[in-house]
Amino acid sequence: MYEMQLFFRYPSFRHKALTFSYDDGVYQDRRLIDILRAHGMRGTFNLNSGLTGKNPGWLMTKEECLDLYKESDTEVAMHAYTHPWLDQQPENVVTYEILRDRVELEGMFRRSVCGFAYPFGTYNDTVIRALRGAGAKYARTVESTHAFGLPTDWLRLHPTCHHKDASLFELADRYLGWEENTRRPGGSPMSMFYVWGHSYEFDTDRNWDVIERFAEKMADKKDIWYATNMELYRYAEAVSRVEISPDGGICYNPSAVDIYFYKGGKPYVVHAGEELCL
Ligand SMILES: [Zn+2]
Repeated sequence: MYEMQLFFRYPSFRHKALTFSYDDGVYQDRRLIDILRAHGMRGTFNLNSGLTGKNPGWLMTKEECLDLYKESDTEVAMHAYTHPWLDQQPENVVTYEILRDRVELEGMFRRSVCGFAYPFGTYNDTVIRALRGAGAKYARTVESTHAFGLPTDWLRLHPTCHHKDASLFELADRYLGWEENTRRPGGSPMSMFYVWGHSYEFDTDRNWDVIERFAEKMADKKDIWYATNMELYRYAEAVSRVEISPDGGICYNPSAVDIYFYKGGKPYVVHAGEELCL
């Protein structure tokens, strides 16, 4: 039966991914982006467009945000217009907070902004409904899983842990030691290590060395895909849309990205828009 099944992997047949999510658009993001970039890593930055420049010396201005996050290796995502407790607002306020943030950020950066991080980590069914209505593709909570599975519900995207988590390095060791099982065609499924936080915490806690050591430890690994949150979402979503014939002999990739998989122990790539007879 293994011979018939397709086992999906990330680009270049990697089975692991590392992604970062940092909130609020603060000045310390500059130093964090430098650290990530120096190690070939990509981050997602969640912004409250209604608060930019409102707290001088703390939150960056619009111009500073534009300058810092303009490169394509950083994703800009929503964090609501004014950082409210969304779970305590009526639905129309929730909708406005989310939609206005999206429209403002897309106007600023001239690219699509469909990711979200819950301000204060709070949400309920009304918030999730509003997110869906605003076209958000994923929404990050603050509930650590201490695990590496992909989310079953991307609007309840739970991170692996906060950077301050006492088990950060233990989790890193566990993830790095998780080898692709090449004896079984199924091997190891696609997974993720997801870190979140606020970069100002590195200043207040005087612990920039934590993220420096973590980045150094996780860098340059052949089996890890370094991706933004949205890249991860889009790839996983594209995989979920691959159409496979019942006997596994034909697969069609309707998405705009190339998709990597193993079948019968052999590696394959089904290109964007391609139908492959295996
Ligand atoms: Zn926040």
